[in-house]
Amino acid sequence: KTYREWETKKIPTTCPHCGTGCQMNLVVKGNKLVGVEPINGAANKNLLCVKGKFASYKFVGSGDRLTEPLIKRNGVFEPATWDEALSLVADKFNQLKADHGPDSLAGFSCSRSINEDNYVFQKMMRAAIGTNNVDNCARVCHSASVHGLAHTLGSGAMTNPIADITTDVEVILLVGSNPEEAHPVIGSQIRQAMQRGAKVIVVDPRKIDLVKNCELHLQIQAGTNVAFANGMMHVILKEGLADQAFIKEKTEGFEALEQLVAEYTPEKVAEICHIEADDLIKAARLYAKAEKAPIIYCLGVTEHSTGTEGVMSMSNMAMLVGKIGKPGCGVNPLRGQNNVQGACDMGCMPYDFPGYQKVANPEVMAKFEKAWGVNLNKNVGLTSTQVLPAATEGKIKGLYIFGEDPIVTDPDTTHVRKALENLEFFVVQELFMTETAAYADVVLPGISYAEKDGTFTNTERRVQRVRKAVEPKGEAREDYAIFCDVMTRLGYPSHYDSAKEIMDEIASLTPTFGGINYDRLEVTGGLQWPCRTPEDPGTPIMHVGEFTRGKGLFMAIPYKKSRELPDERYPYLMSTGRMLYHYNTRAMTGRTEGINQLANRSYIEINTVDAKRLGIKEGDKVNVKSRRGTIETYAAVGNRVFPQEVFMTFHFPDGNVNELTNAEFDDIAIIPEYKVCAVDITPVR
Ligand code: SF4
Repeated sequence: KTYREWETKKIPTTCPHCGTGCQMNLVVKGNKLVGVEPINGAANKNLLCVKGKFASYKFVGSGDRLTEPLIKRNGVFEPATWDEALSLVADKFNQLKADHGPDSLAGFSCSRSINEDNYVFQKMMRAAIGTNNVDNCARVCHSASVHGLAHTLGSGAMTNPIADITTDVEVILLVGSNPEEAHPVIGSQIRQAMQRGAKVIVVDPRKIDLVKNCELHLQIQAGTNVAFANGMMHVILKEGLADQAFIKEKTEGFEALEQLVAEYTPEKVAEICHIEADDLIKAARLYAKAEKAPIIYCLGVTEHSTGTEGVMSMSNMAMLVGKIGKPGCGVNPLRGQNNVQGACDMGCMPYDFPGYQKVANPEVMAKFEKAWGVNLNKNVGLTSTQVLPAATEGKIKGLYIFGEDPIVTDPDTTHVRKALENLEFFVVQELFMTETAAYADVVLPGISYAEKDGTFTNTERRVQRVRKAVEPKGEAREDYAIFCDVMTRLGYPSHYDSAKEIMDEIASLTPTFGGINYDRLEVTGGLQWPCRTPEDPGTPIMHVGEFTRGKGLFMAIPYKKSRELPDERYPYLMSTGRMLYHYNTRAMTGRTEGINQLANRSYIEINTVDAKRLGIKEGDKVNVKSRRGTIETYAAVGNRVFPQEVFMTFHFPDGNVNELTNAEFDDIAIIPEYKVCAVDITPVR
């Protein structure tokens, strides 16, 4: 410890990294954060991982925080007053709107920031700028979950609480998820469940650490989730293990599904997925026969050109065996960023107002027009993954990015750079001068989670408080107040006294948040939406009794291949993912010295057989090349991946894997296929 207890105060808040939503105290000495302590939250039970414990506070006081507005003049950023910067933003946006219409402008909101900032950001885009071109980074991680689960079940969110699916369960079907690295506190709870006797079926192209103690590992080839699920359902139906009463009473679309999966024999699926037919049969029996067996999945299901279909396949499996709307069951996407659930809930999506109320619904539109006192644009907007190509084509002229760094995070970096260079006016609101912010015309300094009051919504739909612990440095300002000033200068006067006031407005317009307010959050520690009235205790388990959409909808989905597969020129199938020590672009974890000592460079996992053939040893520098670019990184040789398959993390700007990834999209959620592309590898001599 670098502090004496009596010198400090402790401010309870929510971890700013992943969607687990761990509760913790920020330890404050003077106006400085000096440490973090776990507290007993519903999701974390006194646990924190290395990121929460060590990388949640040092970045806040980092010397390279942005502390004043910047305007780029002759290619160089110069300090500016708030008045100059905000006037420039409003003038340029007004001009572009007058010249090219409001749909020539777009905004990406911040899934790391609080619900209240996200609500005001989408209100700015819709009410003041006049476009539905607003999105958030769920587009590139779990937009397929939002679409796929909403379509089949009626709500695009995790069905059961974390504690419920890790405490008293017999089997866990873990698909495309490596929770010990991506959601470590959930990973620990899964491991504890295994120690108590839960049988875990890991469905993953890599030998993740949980494989060592799991019941069964189906090492499917990346991109074959739909075939795997169809094969599971084939076996379940053939062996009479389906819950026919549940299917008849609570679902629709079963006949088409039954007909389709009849083709997916274990032998056929084994060939597509590169697994043993017997293992598929064992997995189907284990899952179907257990009374309590949740499906837990992550980006290994969503980040494909068939991502939404993969998610719908998870719903299909759970409905087939009646494991929805019950304790210890359900379909459970582990959301990535701390508040990516909240950014979606708050309407930072091109077709939804807050609470997934549809832009296309005239009654919803009329409600928001009345509440906001303005005529709104009726056109559904573009997704972030459509905005960037539209900028390259010159259709999007102005962009406002709040706390995202698409140069590092989006696929095919060369094309992202081209899109940003092509903009006529570009605003970034950030904590640091990121790779993306360097392309902006105006950079506005926002503030971190530790400097503001608000709420995050974790992966299990639990709205939890974020509390201000320290004052921001320099002239950095409350993010929603910056949006209000922009709105006012655009001719739509706007002001809020506090985040609490914003939450009250959210509750008044969003039926699923109708019973959520700060007073109740203080007393309860968190509320899971839907929470419709002040008396409503919230909804831990969804779809109890009946599905949110009425009947659960089976979708008959044939397997389709990934868009780019290995060939002679690019013979390796590459997949990407997260590592334990870092979070996404490393904006926070990369500013924590101890973390960098543990993990400071990118690497590529290569199978021993391939490494031997290529003359590559552990730690050697290698070139990795795809149709879109070439990078240098370091070899990690072993057997975590199959021969002819490789894996890279996405955290490092040197060796940025997104120079290589493929900007092919799922047709429904427009999510990129990060998980499969073809590469070649050569040693650097
Ligand atoms: Fe933070 Fe996620 Fe780690 Fe919890 S599991 S401490 S929310 S990074």
